Amino acid sequence: MATAKFETPKLKPYPVIPLIAEGAMAHSKPYVASPKIQEAIGFPGELSDGWEQRAVAKMGELLGKYRSLRVYMDACVHCGACSDKCHYFLGTGDPKNMPVARQDLMRAVYRRYFTFAGKHFPKLVGAVDMSREVLDEWWSYYNQCSECRRCSVFCPYGIDTAEVTMAAREIMDSVGHGQKYANEIIGKVHRIGNNLGIPGPALEDTLLGLEEDTLEETGVAVRFPLDVEGAEVLLVTPSADFFSEPHVESLIGYAKVFHAAGISWTLSSKASEAGNFGLFIGNYEQMRNISMRVKEAAQQLGVKRIVVGECGHAWRVAYSFWNTLIGPFDWLDARYPVPQHICEFTHDLIQRGALRFDKSKNDDRIITFHDSCNVARASRMGRVPGGQFVIPREIIKAVANRFHDMAPGTIHESTFCCGGGGGLLTDDLLELRVKGALPRMEALKHVVDDHGVNFMATICAICKAQFSKVLPAYGFDMSMVGGVHQLVSKAIVLGEPNS
Ligand code: SF4
Ligand code: SF4
Repeated sequence: MATAKFETPKLKPYPVIPLIAEGAMAHSKPYVASPKIQEAIGFPGELSDGWEQRAVAKMGELLGKYRSLRVYMDACVHCGACSDKCHYFLGTGDPKNMPVARQDLMRAVYRRYFTFAGKHFPKLVGAVDMSREVLDEWWSYYNQCSECRRCSVFCPYGIDTAEVTMAAREIMDSVGHGQKYANEIIGKVHRIGNNLGIPGPALEDTLLGLEEDTLEETGVAVRFPLDVEGAEVLLVTPSADFFSEPHVESLIGYAKVFHAAGISWTLSSKASEAGNFGLFIGNYEQMRNISMRVKEAAQQLGVKRIVVGECGHAWRVAYSFWNTLIGPFDWLDARYPVPQHICEFTHDLIQRGALRFDKSKNDDRIITFHDSCNVARASRMGRVPGGQFVIPREIIKAVANRFHDMAPGTIHESTFCCGGGGGLLTDDLLELRVKGALPRMEALKHVVDDHGVNFMATICAICKAQFSKVLPAYGFDMSMVGGVHQLVSKAIVLGEPNS
């Protein structure tokens, strides 16, 4: 298992490609799911005789289903353009964290069983048999990829290591070797409806508490409705928004936006989770089952629109997969995007002059924005290309006076992962998370030093949780991170007290 002690990398004044540290992260491994966790979501409980053949058969199945995977296995020319683009390589120096090397772990097995040369001259082409040794290496390094897709931006062939990682995890799950963190969470969503396992009554209590707090803070009766039939909007948000800091501040922001715009909305106890860890384990069936809860809740409540809260991978699943998995959405109001991101929702209201702000309320903050991987590189927002970069920044500028972007090579489609995405936000991978955050922390340090930045806004629940944990390791205050709607919440003008 992961070592408890490690050194946080030093922040450097400019990006430096690290010296190669062979095997530096070979010890990093997440906990393996117990048979109970595995079986609860339909996977074999553990490895059993013949798993090697079953793993190869599963690989064959995936190669048949996804042409992209076969192209990724065949197309790489080992040009090296991706090799220094992964934050886990930059933070650890472990050469197996170079994206091309990560792909090669699967490519070696692919060649052995699915190419002529590999079948007949394995040594000549670096082909290897599926074995326990191979599985252990897959387990370590396919759990050191946050599926952030940064490497694919720089690959001349567009090879997407994230998809290779997802396929590897899918193969491992299919033979009974799954990740405890991700699969336990998936089980909770099936049983209870959300990643945190919050039952309906506890959720109701929490929302009532938020109503009281917001009334006390603003003097305005802002509602946090749950399971309201006939509401216009169903808001699906990460369950961290209900309980965690700073996430809950954004939930308060969403509620204030709905209140100020006079649009009826509701949360759902059935779909009390926007996150979808089916994506992280590369399993479309799990992804579909989790997504289906949203469709069923929306239809039961009779809403006209579905809006997704601040969660990076949830937005990727919603934007890129929902239509295939649970569409068509012809039963929703066609005048609005399906689905709609809360930032699109708020931005649209701002553009129509439907919201008022007192920007000076955020004057204690000098703000930067962290583009979350799954929003930046795996989805879009608004009606123009690049809207996912423009819209959150325009909201921030509408609600605050002071904003500075981080360096160009570290934002937009080149953004660095927070280090905790892709199902790695677990304390058994803390060393990896801290070291993988290095490139983002270096970019942040520049705007802190040059512009006095003291707040990093983001629209992802995982980024918020990850940064809260790793910022202190780099000498920053953990409260530096927060949501875009946290800033909206502070500046929005709700009308006269007691209205
Ligand atoms: S997808 Fe992201 S984490 Fe995975 S290898 Fe590429 S850059 Fe690294
Ligand atoms: S950039 Fe693309 S082609 Fe070049 S080594 Fe990386 S994955 Fe292979």
